[in-house]
Amino acid sequence: MILAFIEGERNPISPLCLQALTFARELAAGQGMPLEAVAFEREAGDLPGVLQRHGVSRIHRVEHPRLDDYAPEAWAKALAQLMDRARPQFVLAAATDRGNEILARVAAVKNLPMAANCIGWAPGSPPVVVRQRWGGSLLEEAALHAVPPLLTVAPHAVEVREIETQMEASLETFSPVLEEKDFRVRVVAREETHPEGVSLRTASVVVGGGRGVGSADGFRVLEELASLLGAAVGGSRVATNNGWRTHAQQIGLTGNRIAPDLYIACGISGAIQHYVGCKGSKNILVINQDREAPFFRRATHGVVGDLHEVLPALIEEIRRIKT
Ligand SMILES: Cc1cc2nc3c(=O)[nH]c(=O)nc-3n(C[C@H](O)[C@H](O)[C@H](O)COP(=O)(O)OP(=O)(O)OC[C@H]3O[C@@H](n4cnc5c(N)ncnc54)[C@H](O)[C@@H]3O)c2cc1C
Repeated sequence: MILAFIEGERNPISPLCLQALTFARELAAGQGMPLEAVAFEREAGDLPGVLQRHGVSRIHRVEHPRLDDYAPEAWAKALAQLMDRARPQFVLAAATDRGNEILARVAAVKNLPMAANCIGWAPGSPPVVVRQRWGGSLLEEAALHAVPPLLTVAPHAVEVREIETQMEASLETFSPVLEEKDFRVRVVAREETHPEGVSLRTASVVVGGGRGVGSADGFRVLEELASLLGAAVGGSRVATNNGWRTHAQQIGLTGNRIAPDLYIACGISGAIQHYVGCKGSKNILVINQDREAPFFRRATHGVVGDLHEVLPALIEEIRRIKT
């Protein structure tokens, strides 16, 4: 059996989690094994319906009076206990902060191999996975010798696909044995920073700014463009290090991975650590005054010019077309 870890984030199932489920289902089909899922969230909407449409035959819902919000040690311990009972051949999660954290903890507790950021696999004994290293600039083939291997699925490596014939999934409750010390790290409060804004991870258009923007104030023109296009605003690490944007808005290796239809990168040189965060974009428009900037080599569209001149002209033209 293949076990998929579902992270609810309270807001049913994230697209990245659905991508991991698609990967898990294809792995399960290839190995001739059923696909099961483990879920922790209580308020996960129509969880059974969604999981059934993704080929899950059994759902293990973890129930514990104290598991009302994220607590990584407790979640990992509960997952390890479920694995002792259900004996999966593989355990998968999305390669999100949470998916990687939980599986890394399970790997440490159970002394199992974990391969993060997988994009493919080949059957065999031992099974081999292909995974991204160095932020996706290198692909590694890894043979996994222990059972069950723990895999996280790289963001945007597979397209979400539901099954054609929906199957009935059975629902089982699993009650882990947890202690006070398992809750040393837990969510105690939540604060929404931009409740009305467009989310970077799901926006179909993203406007990003880097050192070339020059200041926090310089981002106003990017925000104006974003509001015209219904886009989200993000930044390079220079922009977040300088305090022009928050870390939650950083795009790149140590920030968000985005995959919009259009990414407009303004005053960003295109360092590999930035590019890995946006390479899932269908189109990249680079605005940079240096025609030798590395980002132009990866862009689908480019404008050589000062962003403080190009963006106002672009905004004016969009307004003209809209009216
Ligand atoms: C371990 C590690 C992790 C990292 N993680 C990330 C990450 O997650 N995200 C990230 O972004 N970086 C990350 N970095 C940093 C990365 O290597 C680069 O330093 C960073 O992306 C550079 O940001 P930038 O493009 O804004 O600045 P710069 O490289 O300084 O580029 C600024 C660009 O703006 C252009 N410019 C200047 N003025 C204008 C203007 N008026 N109009 C138009 N263009 C102009 C310049 O020609 C230049 O190309 C990481 C680095 C390391 C080592």
